[in-house]
Amino acid sequence: MRWTHTLIPTLREAPAEAEIVSHQLLLRAGLVRKLAGGVYSFLPLGLRALHKVERIVREEMDRAGAVEVLLPALQPPEIWQQSGRYETARHVLYKVYDSARREWVLSPTAEEVITLLAAAEIQSYRQLPKNFYQISVKFRDEIRPRFGLMRAREFIMKDAYSFDVSDEAAQESYRRMYEAYTRIFARCGLRTFPVEADTGVIGGSLSHEFMVPAETGENEVAYCEGCGYAANVEKAVSAAPAAAPETSGGSTPAPEKFPTPGVQTIEDLTRPPYGIPAARQIKTLVYIVESRPVLVLLRGDDQLNEAKLAARLGTTVFRPATPEEVYATLGAHPGSLGAVATTLADRAVPVWADERLRGATDMTTGANEDGYHLRHVNVARDLRVDQWADLRTVRAGEPCARCGQPLRIRRAIEVGHVFKLGTKYSEKLGATFIDESGVRRPCVMGCYGIGVTRTLQAVIEQCHDADGIIWPVSVAPYEVCLTPLQVAEDSPVWRAAQQLYAALVEAGIEVILDDREERPGVKFKDADLVGFPFRVNIGEKSLARGEVEIKRRAGGLETVPVGQAADRVAMLVREARAGRGGTTGDSGRF
Ligand code: ATP
Ligand code: MG
Repeated sequence: MRWTHTLIPTLREAPAEAEIVSHQLLLRAGLVRKLAGGVYSFLPLGLRALHKVERIVREEMDRAGAVEVLLPALQPPEIWQQSGRYETARHVLYKVYDSARREWVLSPTAEEVITLLAAAEIQSYRQLPKNFYQISVKFRDEIRPRFGLMRAREFIMKDAYSFDVSDEAAQESYRRMYEAYTRIFARCGLRTFPVEADTGVIGGSLSHEFMVPAETGENEVAYCEGCGYAANVEKAVSAAPAAAPETSGGSTPAPEKFPTPGVQTIEDLTRPPYGIPAARQIKTLVYIVESRPVLVLLRGDDQLNEAKLAARLGTTVFRPATPEEVYATLGAHPGSLGAVATTLADRAVPVWADERLRGATDMTTGANEDGYHLRHVNVARDLRVDQWADLRTVRAGEPCARCGQPLRIRRAIEVGHVFKLGTKYSEKLGATFIDESGVRRPCVMGCYGIGVTRTLQAVIEQCHDADGIIWPVSVAPYEVCLTPLQVAEDSPVWRAAQQLYAALVEAGIEVILDDREERPGVKFKDADLVGFPFRVNIGEKSLARGEVEIKRRAGGLETVPVGQAADRVAMLVREARAGRGGTTGDSGRF
């Protein structure tokens, strides 16, 4: 390919909208262009890199025994109602209307479609196991599309769905996908780590996310360097001490009401004249869960983890109550709320409490009367708790639940997600089979996603320097860029470049020939910005000595006789290809 034949609109400056380096480089290297927020066009080089990621995904899915299908993006809303997700996933569903005002849903994922397909086409255990995958455009109405392809409204996802006869067999399908994912990301030159994950609105019992550690990631991972434990903070647990240490010693006095005019927050009560540490306070939150109020109690210094709450409630349809709803529920405004049995009287609101409050004594909490709190509250004796659960978010430094070493927390990008689903969808949508003894049973399912476009950008986020992208050879738009410093038809430099180009193409190397009439500096800068793994500089002076220069984008320069250049470059490219992407890709601990 000649540079002037394709379209590589490089930019000197990053557009102001691009906040993170990979987004800036996508735009600066001319790989994508924005049409609207979260909606991008792929330009020729971006598409080439994307196709390479897709190819790796296909090869590894096929190797793992999955079979490719292509499912519709336009889906009838009825199937979402049937699965129950028309409501629970409504925040992300794009709805469109045809000329008859009939509603359609644009696919954010495809559990419903594939499960219905399996329901229609699979009847017998003899047809199982099956794992279907597709690589296709998905649509999600993201509240905050940002960071380019990282969180887009329209993006490419590989989604796969396994169907098995038993839980044990489903476990094996899960394991195969987990291994395929490890290989896929390593082949893309990405360093990823599997971490335990929340199953969220998808549901299911076991789940891992594949994370790329990055300061710009939107996830937080808690991990332990001692034993290798790693989990999304939405799911992570620690061995933080369960109860606040008793300060009064011996038996605690009865709760005592005291005036706290103007106190609105936990923080307010820590200050004089009160001086009550946050750890000795009870935080009382009111949520509206599917239109009914629920109280959630935590230690004052802990934060509610909404993903854990959702998992325990079994629904994601909840929100913090408004001040009016709070008043209607407890007869007091935020700032003076509590769950001491006497102050709740006969209010029928369910009370959930975080495990860390269990057994706590001498605590302070709101009196359900504006401007008053209660002290000397003994949780076991005085509170009315209906459900105990782990509802708090872990913090860095807390002891690991497995080995006791301090947990660390790091930001990361989620590029893939594997779930063991069980029979949730197969039961709702009728994906059953007749087993060996003639009994009809629901298929045991798994589902497995990779953000293909997000993965592409994650590679850039991980592989770049101040000059631009440093593509691993496995996903580079071209493997080699030839940079002749003269392009006049009759110049020896141009002739040498053309010969080298022809020899490399013949050798099966993907090469782009920079045939622009530009200054050397401009050509070098652009090649470095786009990040081709190898650049061959052909200049008048070195050619007069019979030599050309081979420069590796990742570092390293060598001079070779022009007659040997094609062989040498081809060898270097083949070595890099065999090196599985060229960069790290190790699967060590987080
Ligand atoms: P997130 O938590 O980032 O919103 P998710 O957990 O909702 O993602 P999944 O349903 O697990 O996403 O989708 C599978 C994969 O698709 C994710 O691991 C991610 O790589 C990718 N993905 C999800 N949402 C987006 C998006 N808006 N833009 C680009 N890729 C996405
Ligand atoms: Mg996910």
